[in-house]
Amino acid sequence: MSESTAFNTLPLSAPMLANLDSLGYKEMTAIQAASLPIILQQQDLIAQAKTGSGKTAAFGIGILAKLNPTYFAVQGLVICPTRELADQVANELRRLARTMPNVKVVTLCGGTPMRPQIASLEYGAHIVVGTPGRLIDHISRNTINLKTVQTLVLDEADRMVDMGFYDDIYDIVAATPTRRQTLLFSATYPDDIRQASEQLLRDPVEIKVESQH
Ligand code: ADP
Ligand code: MG
Repeated sequence: MSESTAFNTLPLSAPMLANLDSLGYKEMTAIQAASLPIILQQQDLIAQAKTGSGKTAAFGIGILAKLNPTYFAVQGLVICPTRELADQVANELRRLARTMPNVKVVTLCGGTPMRPQIASLEYGAHIVVGTPGRLIDHISRNTINLKTVQTLVLDEADRMVDMGFYDDIYDIVAATPTRRQTLLFSATYPDDIRQASEQLLRDPVEIKVESQH
C-alpha cells in the first residue's frame, strides 16, 4: 500500500480509522485519495468519477469528520436523484458512523407517508438524505430546518439535472446557510452542471478521476 492512499495519512479520528479498517477499507480509492484532502480542508468541490468508485465514503467521511453528535440538528444534507440511491447512501453513512452511536441518519423520499418522517425530524436528525421533491415538501410545510447545515452534498448531480430537478435543488439550497461547504458529485460534467455549480458552489476545486480504483 502506498503512503498516499492510506486513510491514516488523513486527519481523521482514531475511531474513524479503526472503523474504516473494520469495514475492509484498507486503502483509499482514487476518488477518495483525490477528494478527501480537499473535503477535510472545508473547500467546495466538484468531483467527477464513475459509478462504483467510492464517492459515498468520500463525502460521508467529510460530513462525519466535522459532525457534532451532541448537537441535535441537521448538520449534513445529501440530495440524491432516487429513493434507491438515497437508501444506499443512508446505509453507507450509518456504516461509516458505527463508532458514533448517537448519530442519526434520516431518509426523506417520496412514496412513503409524511408523518413518520416528520416524527424522525422532531426527534432530531444529524444527517438527512433525501430526494428533491420530498425535501421541497418538508421545506414548504416547515417541518425541516436546514439553517444548521454545514455540509451540503449533491450526489449524482448530472442525473438530477437530467430528471428536471434543478429548480427544486436551487430552492433546497436556498434554505441552507450561505456559509456551508458544498460538494457536487457527478459521473459526467456537461454544460448544465457547470452552470449549476457556478450558482451553488463557492470557488470549487474541480477533480476528475478516470479510473475505477
Ligand atoms: P459510487 O457512489 O462512486 O458509485 P459507492 O460509494 O457506492 O460508489 O461505493 C461502491 C462500493 O465500494 C461500496 O460497496 C463501498 O462500500 C465500497 N468502498 C468504498 N470505499 C472503499 C474503500 N476505500 N475500500 C474498499 N471498498 C470501498
Ligand atoms: Mg454514488
